[in-house]
Amino acid sequence: MSELFEMGIREIQAGLAAKEFSAVEVAQAATDRIEANDFQDGGVNAFLEFTPEMAREAAARIDEQLAAGKTPSEIGPLAGIPMAYKDNMNLLGTRTTCASRMLENYESAYTATCVQRTLDAGAIPLGKLNMDEFAFGSSTETSAFGPTRNPWDLERVPGGSSGGSAAAVAAGFATVTLGSDTGGSIRQPGSFTGTVAVKPTYGVVSRYGIVAFGSSLDQVGPFARSVEDAALALNAISGHDALDCTSQPVDTDFTANLAEGVKGMRIGIVPAFMQAQGLTPEVKDKVAEAAEHMRTMGAELVEVDLPNAQAAMSAYYVLGPCEAFSNLSRFDSVRYGYCEPGHKDLGGQYEASRAKGFGPEARRRIMLGSYLLSAGVYDTYYYPAQQVRTLITQDYTRAYEKCDVILLPSSPRTAFKFGEISDPMSMYLSDMFTVSLNIAGNGGMSVPVGLGVDTNLPIGVQLQSPQFKDENMFRAAAALEQVYGKAPIAPAFARKAGE
Ligand code: GLN
Repeated sequence: MSELFEMGIREIQAGLAAKEFSAVEVAQAATDRIEANDFQDGGVNAFLEFTPEMAREAAARIDEQLAAGKTPSEIGPLAGIPMAYKDNMNLLGTRTTCASRMLENYESAYTATCVQRTLDAGAIPLGKLNMDEFAFGSSTETSAFGPTRNPWDLERVPGGSSGGSAAAVAAGFATVTLGSDTGGSIRQPGSFTGTVAVKPTYGVVSRYGIVAFGSSLDQVGPFARSVEDAALALNAISGHDALDCTSQPVDTDFTANLAEGVKGMRIGIVPAFMQAQGLTPEVKDKVAEAAEHMRTMGAELVEVDLPNAQAAMSAYYVLGPCEAFSNLSRFDSVRYGYCEPGHKDLGGQYEASRAKGFGPEARRRIMLGSYLLSAGVYDTYYYPAQQVRTLITQDYTRAYEKCDVILLPSSPRTAFKFGEISDPMSMYLSDMFTVSLNIAGNGGMSVPVGLGVDTNLPIGVQLQSPQFKDENMFRAAAALEQVYGKAPIAPAFARKAGE
């Protein structure tokens, strides 16, 4: 029999229903594991705040309802499931720091809709997860509270910015976590840690209660060790929310066609992506291998073109910083954020507090955005970037006339070592396969397809689907899972043979 930490949602709920274990035991197993593996020197450092009491209370409530005769599915679709949340999501009773000194002591004033929906569905909240500061980055190295380590190799980054969310699932600390993706921050760490990582279509999940980075790009999604668990979690958090006017009345069951297979599906391949500079041979081979598996299972491979995708990085690194500059202006040391004492005038207080509260990458984005939106410069950069946005969106619309999903790499390479990529421009190139999706607003996910032949580290392939057709990519992902298996727990954290 599996250990509790290895189980997926259905297995945990079957065990609860059969009274093989209680929800409190599920919570205890998870919190013990985190305590033993996350906090000590050299530990994973996925958690910024750990909430064992909250977990125990939520679990005890589940057990009460089970004792009263309710089945797990009557209690809620996530009843008894250990979960944790990226630290840019408000959860009443916890701090929401965005891994920044600026918000080090900020107490959540309310709970984000996506988090609340998991709690209403019966999830057991384990805490808040590490990230790149304000979600700027691809490695979790910009966290003010130390980087998260990749459970597959503790000397390597887990990717970012949702590195804590990815690592917590890969290490078997939580069954499902939530992350956010503005330019790849779910899919790239998903690839680096070999987890299933979903960025839904913009508007599928409410952004209410998430600290905004790029409001027109941000979207929340789940990490899990199986496609089904990710789909079940997305079912629970998706749908219209009166508190976010960009959320849509989505009532899709993302598990509906997981068993259908890919027979008859048209899988789009973008030849230019496969020739991209910087794409490592082992990742390229995995994408080709996954395509071949899908063809063998009855899918049709078709070549599609996204001619303007080459401008996506440039457009993203204009639009993203502009929106971030605007959103981060609220952290002014008066309304929100760290306040540097000893200043008599307000201007001096603003300047000193922001200089001290924000780390180097956040300051870089703010300065970039401020410059790009200034008079005279705006027309040269921001306006064309918006035009590129329209062109990329149109490219996707045309491509999806010929295919149902697009298959491409999630990241050009596998997880790198701490400090290996030090200049910002090279770090930004981590996002070369992910940002065009946020620009267009479509759905995309990273699915683990085993280890690279050269690095022996996890590789994920990315599946993308048309707007509000996220079920297409789930269907294709489930077929790939048939071939490659569910996402394993990283070997150093897995049960050893005979245990
Ligand atoms: N790596 C990208 C950036 O630094 C994406 C971040 C994100 O998706 N939050 O902007």
